Amino acid sequence: MKTDEEQKKKEEQQNKQNSTNKANWIMPCSGKISSPYGWRIHPTLKTKKFHDGVDIGVNLNTPVKAVASGIVVKAKWYNGYGKYIEIDHGNSITSFYGHLNEFKVCKNQFVKQGQIIALSGNTAGIGANGKVMTTGPHLHFGVQENGDSANPLDFIRNF
Ligand SMILES: [Zn+2]
Repeated sequence: MKTDEEQKKKEEQQNKQNSTNKANWIMPCSGKISSPYGWRIHPTLKTKKFHDGVDIGVNLNTPVKAVASGIVVKAKWYNGYGKYIEIDHGNSITSFYGHLNEFKVCKNQFVKQGQIIALSGNTAGIGANGKVMTTGPHLHFGVQENGDSANPLDFIRNF
């Protein structure tokens, strides 16, 4: 029979593996990808802009989950992203989540894969042209690997 201690150790190890192995993440929420990663014409700025994540169409206040375990390194307002969370997964890989309505975690907190970190929203702020930066409630989900943005869907299990 396994002791609690052994079980805990095993879980911790599994969490560590899940967070750094590529293609072992879960989607932060279910919904259609409304805008892919890469170059696009920005929906409100109407100029060519690099989209450093994917947009997932979700209703207001949909629970947003941590894609993998890690440490919350940012939970703050960023103009353009609105209410924004960034999670450090180790190995120079971070995931980030924008346009949130409500934070459910705070900075320096450890989160497990699947833990609810926020409720989705439509926060963004005002763009360079004076227009609101979002067109409706959605989650902006992105990844940084060694300081560069990467396609977050490459990290998702079974995508
Ligand atoms: Zn976006």
